[in-house]
Amino acid sequence: GDFVPTNLNNLLHEFVNLAFHGMRAGKNPINVSFKWDLDTEIGLVPIIAEDFSRVIVNLCNNAFDAMRSKLNLTLEGEERTSYHPRLIVRTRQTETKIITEIEDNGAGIPEPILNRILEPFFTTKKGKEGTGLGLSITHDIIKAHKGTLSIASKEGDFTRFEITLPPISA
Ligand code: ADP
Ligand code: MG
Repeated sequence: GDFVPTNLNNLLHEFVNLAFHGMRAGKNPINVSFKWDLDTEIGLVPIIAEDFSRVIVNLCNNAFDAMRSKLNLTLEGEERTSYHPRLIVRTRQTETKIITEIEDNGAGIPEPILNRILEPFFTTKKGKEGTGLGLSITHDIIKAHKGTLSIASKEGDFTRFEITLPPISA
């Protein structure tokens, strides 16, 4: 694939929706509300679409898994609390970079394993549910785009992946 100047907002719409419909068509679908917080003014980014689309789909699939597991915990508990899975997709631009955030309000990541989740084969999912390869491939693809990936999370509360990419040089 080639690096092609790309509107990230369009790519996000396309592949977040693809991931959502794939999840809905698969085993254990859940309802998810989406909050789109896209900066329509962001510049173009050189992107290999067939690679970067996997980044978006991987991050969404992890988010859906984390929200499903929180939903299951909630349903097992006494209080049928009003937990509503919700995914936020955000873009913004600073002077030097274009930032994409994908944030879920799912199970969160325990602090002790936060620094391990990018390792190949690291997974907390049982049996065949997880290969532990999604995030390491995701990280490799982002690095190949000269970008960075960082993670913020609170167990039981939320997880936010932040991707930074260099805009096309003017
Ligand atoms: P897999 O999904 O196959 O387990 P990944 O590399 O995609 O492998 O993710 C590794 C681990 O990171 C997951 O097993 C999970 O423990 C954790 N993780 C990743 N994304 C999230 C998220 N959005 N919320 C909570 N945990 C996450
Ligand atoms: Mg995964």
